[in-house]
Amino acid sequence: MNKGILIVVSAPSGCGKGTILAEVMKDEKFYYSVSATTRSPRPGETDGVNYHFLGREQFEELIKTGGMLEYAEYCGNYYGTPRDKVLEKINEGKNVILEIEVQGAMQIREKCPEAVFVFIAPPSVAELRNRLEKRGTETPEVINQRVSEAAQEISFAYRYDYVVVNNILEDAVNDFISVIRAEELKAENQKNIIDEVLKNA
Ligand code: 5GP
Repeated sequence: MNKGILIVVSAPSGCGKGTILAEVMKDEKFYYSVSATTRSPRPGETDGVNYHFLGREQFEELIKTGGMLEYAEYCGNYYGTPRDKVLEKINEGKNVILEIEVQGAMQIREKCPEAVFVFIAPPSVAELRNRLEKRGTETPEVINQRVSEAAQEISFAYRYDYVVVNNILEDAVNDFISVIRAEELKAENQKNIIDEVLKNA
């Protein structure tokens, strides 16, 4: 069996990243890595499903003992990827998705150069603003803040391998799946199959 692929996904909020990943995750060959965070759960979030909600001390202990594959401080809270589960699932042949922000993504770039980096972008900043306004959950000030943060985050897109623009959801999902399929078909990821074919030559 070939090992799974480590996929790092980043996107500014309001890009529809959650909706795209929910579609992708319908295929069982993907495993979504549940991050740890010190931020408080939002209404409707469940411990162990959306995040592992930890205290600051617990989180810092995990950093010290090497339990985090990467971590970052974002808006005053820690966010990090628990290492063991990710490695276990990759070895089981699953494609593991890390949905993380840019600083964490760049740490993975250093530690796991074989990982695939996908940035999800909105079709335009105007459209992003439009979506955030339609969602109606934020005040105009927060929307302005999110839009300017998003513009800054989008400037990091060049550090990723692929950019998927979420204009039409179905197209974005297909683009994402195509990227991963192409990665699976890379010769270096097909070693077991090539060896198998050659065994009977
Ligand atoms: P939120 O608080 O809205 O759930 O997430 C805030 C940001 O933290 C998002 O950009 C999200 O992708 C990022 N994030 C979530 N989990 C992790 C993680 O394990 N590591 C890093 N570096 N960022 C994360």
